[in-house]
Amino acid sequence: MYADIIIDITHEKLDKVFQYIIPEFLKGRLEVGMEVIVPFGRSSKETRGYLVGFSETPGVAADKMKEILQIAEDSVAIEARLVKLAAWMREAYGGTMIQALKTVLPVKRKSKEQQKRKLVCLLGETEGRKRLDFYLSKNQKARARLMAALLDERELDYGLATKKLHITADVIGALEEQGVLAVESKRVYRNPAISLEDSDKEISYTPQQHRAIDRFVQDYRQERYQIYLIHGITGSGKTEVYMEMIRNVVDRGRQAIVLIPEIALTYQTVMRFYRKFGGRVSIIHSRMSAGERYDQMQRASEGKIDVMIGPRSALFTPFPNLGLIVIDEEHENTYKSEQTPRYHARETAAARAKLEHASLVLGSATPSLESYYRCQTGEYCLLELTRRAHNQPLPAVYTADMRRELARGNRSVFSDILHDKLKERLERNEQSMLFLNRRGYAGFISCRSCGYVIKCPHCDVSLSAHNNGKLVCHYCGHEEQSVRVCPSCGSKHIGGFKAGTQQIEELVKREFPSARVLRMDLDTTRKKDGYEKILSAFSHGEADILIGTQMIVKGHDFPRVTLVGILAADMSLYSSDYRAGERTFQLLVQAAGRAGRGVQEGEVVIQTYNPEHYSIQAASKQDYAAFYEEEIAFRKLMGYPPADNLLAILMTGEDEKHLETAAGYLKEYTMRVSGEQIEIIGPATPYVSRIHDVYRKILYLKCPKYGMLIDVKNYLEQYIQINSGFLTLKIQFDFNPMNIF
Ligand code: ADP
Ligand code: ZN
Ligand code: ZN
Repeated sequence: MYADIIIDITHEKLDKVFQYIIPEFLKGRLEVGMEVIVPFGRSSKETRGYLVGFSETPGVAADKMKEILQIAEDSVAIEARLVKLAAWMREAYGGTMIQALKTVLPVKRKSKEQQKRKLVCLLGETEGRKRLDFYLSKNQKARARLMAALLDERELDYGLATKKLHITADVIGALEEQGVLAVESKRVYRNPAISLEDSDKEISYTPQQHRAIDRFVQDYRQERYQIYLIHGITGSGKTEVYMEMIRNVVDRGRQAIVLIPEIALTYQTVMRFYRKFGGRVSIIHSRMSAGERYDQMQRASEGKIDVMIGPRSALFTPFPNLGLIVIDEEHENTYKSEQTPRYHARETAAARAKLEHASLVLGSATPSLESYYRCQTGEYCLLELTRRAHNQPLPAVYTADMRRELARGNRSVFSDILHDKLKERLERNEQSMLFLNRRGYAGFISCRSCGYVIKCPHCDVSLSAHNNGKLVCHYCGHEEQSVRVCPSCGSKHIGGFKAGTQQIEELVKREFPSARVLRMDLDTTRKKDGYEKILSAFSHGEADILIGTQMIVKGHDFPRVTLVGILAADMSLYSSDYRAGERTFQLLVQAAGRAGRGVQEGEVVIQTYNPEHYSIQAASKQDYAAFYEEEIAFRKLMGYPPADNLLAILMTGEDEKHLETAAGYLKEYTMRVSGEQIEIIGPATPYVSRIHDVYRKILYLKCPKYGMLIDVKNYLEQYIQINSGFLTLKIQFDFNPMNIF
């Protein structure tokens, strides 16, 4: 038997398995996924590598083969099943095996760091008092002491509890088991408005929730592990449905992973899971130290927890018997990695679920076009929740046509209707949110008189203004001269849209001097806890108006907000990207969803230069199906995903001329190895044409079949390897990219 090792050096030439002899003292001790130390290269330098398998026949002469030196002591082994997943990722997304292995191992080194742990109370006041009385009646003094302290403080330092209150680890463990408290290694989540009381209640599911849960449970019982998409409007009770599905899986002795975008990982959400699953829930997120994350992963692999909640990388939690993966807000961009391998968590979760015979549940109020499309083709199973759990109505939406405002002589950023409604809220002492849509801003040119936007004649995406006065298409490289008058109506009000949150804040203060205003953007949240502070201040009623970018629209519940104003709905509509319409629809629906979450009904004003656009029309009616029909027709017509697949090949090099020549060769080669079904576009110059003196070129390939694009990728990887002598460029692959380059 020989050991197959992937060397821990990222280089295309070394991206293959190297065989090593297993020395006597390691026989029977090696397992797939372990990190080992081996002699490598001519000088036999001690190098780290991962064991990915065993083979019986030597690939090279046995006397040339070297021996493994030892198992790397301080390292964490990769689970054998995750090694398989890494192999899948490498094939599906490109890059080297070592990059893929490192991706499935989010915590690489063991760490003995001492944790500062604390005890967090999970019970509300009433429940807690009842508990306390119970412990007292049973004469359980230590438990009662701890319960009383938790009721006073809500959170206790672990060390303090054991030393000062003389509580043993057993007592803490017992209360954790009973769902009274959670042991946390740090304050981990955002805490805008805690209301512990209202979730102590039992709920009975709505008929729609029942139907979704039943379907899942029946399939699961018959070992039909499928992919489900829960399309449910905000507040329709998706989270309750996930939790019940998870309970079902956990009852069968299996575990679950819940992916939530980091920005939506709020205190309330996490608490809901704690209440249902007690101490057998764990969280992982980017602001934890390596030691804390190591601990959580360790607990998972030892079977000490059943549910792991976290952002993208939590997908690689090494559970012994994974039974379910849930992806909440599955349409979010953050599920796509921007580092090689550029994997999408949704697809990778599907691959992991298949490897481990688990189910996958996706959920969103505004599903990605990909997922909804797969429901139509029968690949996924669609579960719909069309009503809110408490039957609250959705907010009333008004659309303000900013072209008309301009024609009437209103040049301010506020339409008359938004102005009036803001004033009304201030008089009634209710809160408002102003959302400035700056996502995907890539310098498009539009007319404020008629709404016309200059687009690429070949790609039907908007052109971007570059500093040299030219308008450029980021897909095909098409260029034209910028204009001074509108080609459609002749107006001079044509140009880029410029307005920042800071300017909006000043304008609001000028118009409404008495209003208390908070602003949330990259500037005001840069400082530590800046984000939490603003959210918390606003939720405690310390301001009347919150102004912000997309940061303010995600997942926060502000019951006193009754008005949401969307200032530049069009901004994301014209990012020069085929996903612009989808992104706009999602943002508008989410932003609108912030209004009227409490007792009072909400209102929304969408300001736009293009009220006819289907994304805006559908969003104002909160009509996903109408949006989907239009958008999928566009994608099919233009051959964009999910109708076809798109592969972006990013080429980089330090010498501009050389890169241009090499990109030419690469295109020629690509044409030679591509079948007729592949359309090749470019090479084009990306919006950012140079980073740190490294030049960039981009080639796009379109094809109905994903597999064919993978073939091309494999050919190109070989081509680069063989010709690395004279082609001094690097390539990266991005399948179905979320962002343009
Ligand atoms: P979503 O995840 O779709 O936004 P949630 O699961 O957060 O929806 O539900 C919204 C609110 O309604 C939560 O406070 C939740 O506890 C409550 N809720 C959900 N389902 C029910 C139900 N069947 N009965 C009572 N309340 C419910
Ligand atoms: Zn174009
Ligand atoms: Zn015009």
